[in-house]
Amino acid sequence: MRIDLHSHSTVSDGTQSPTQVVHAAARAGLDVLALTDHDTSGGWAEAQRAADEVGLVLVPGMEVSTFWRGRSVHLLVYLPDPRHPGLLERLDAVLRSRRERVPRILAKLHALGIELDLDDVLAVAPRTAAPGRPHVADAMVAAGVSATRTEAMTTYLQSGRPAFVPRTGADLVDVLGLVTEAGGVSVVAHPWGRGRPGALDVEGFAELRAHGLVGVEVDHEDHSPEQRRALRDVAREVDLVVTGGSDHHGSGKIGHDLGCHTTAVEEYERLLAHATRAARAAGRGACHPDNPASLSVVRATGTSAAGGSAPRG
Ligand code: AMP
Ligand code: FE
Ligand code: FE
Ligand code: ZN
Repeated sequence: MRIDLHSHSTVSDGTQSPTQVVHAAARAGLDVLALTDHDTSGGWAEAQRAADEVGLVLVPGMEVSTFWRGRSVHLLVYLPDPRHPGLLERLDAVLRSRRERVPRILAKLHALGIELDLDDVLAVAPRTAAPGRPHVADAMVAAGVSATRTEAMTTYLQSGRPAFVPRTGADLVDVLGLVTEAGGVSVVAHPWGRGRPGALDVEGFAELRAHGLVGVEVDHEDHSPEQRRALRDVAREVDLVVTGGSDHHGSGKIGHDLGCHTTAVEEYERLLAHATRAARAAGRGACHPDNPASLSVVRATGTSAAGGSAPRG
């Protein structure tokens, strides 16, 4: 069984629609795929329809933009009830701050003599609920300023480059509690992907586990083999589920093809068991890919505030 627990669609910053991502996952020989768009569940319903067609198990998820101790932490959350009011409110705040950031990035580009307006960004990202730097980068490619999304990011948009504008995020500990309340589970995405562990060391993970964290994404393209070994040891010591995923963004990120990193079936089952426990404790029906009640929620998702916000809303 091949399980990829990290992917993005045009609903955030991938270049393929949820349907296209699911179809590509089936072609790549995956049995289980999590769609984890940034800060939105807006792709779930479409992805579930596509998964039904091709006979793939969809794990509905998100990659939530959070902050902890002054550092940005991407939190993969799986199977939360997307209607949970507290969670929706946090996601809405993050999406609002994303929308407010784009004009500030454009102002910095303007000061560099690069003339792009919001319509140029919206034109390359008509479906996104979570606008950000990748879309500005795509607009720069469309305007002939940069050759690729990655080049625009590394030349202009990333930290330390002239048009960088930091993003805000939800409080990590806050989100961990809300996800558990919503019957879902949380996994820290690529924790050491941009260098040293910092606060995300054994003690940090132990503390986050006490707040409800259940897993850590170990097998990710941005981790070296040594980092993976060390993170696996941390996961064992703190008793966290070990996951892996491609972080597929279509053609938006090279080296992240679907299935390039996967999750072991035992670890996937541990993750589902945690979700079942969380859902039961929250008095909700188990949010589980095999549970018809939770499937019907997933099929109806995408019209909520977190799912359906237009970039300009
Ligand atoms: P944002 O959330 O707007 O700050 O943008 C972060 C997103 O940019 C990440 O989720 C990645 O998908 C993308 N990203 C970051 N660095 C690069 C890069 N060097 N090349 C392509 N995409 C990148
Ligand atoms: Fe991304
Ligand atoms: Fe990420
Ligand atoms: Zn991601």
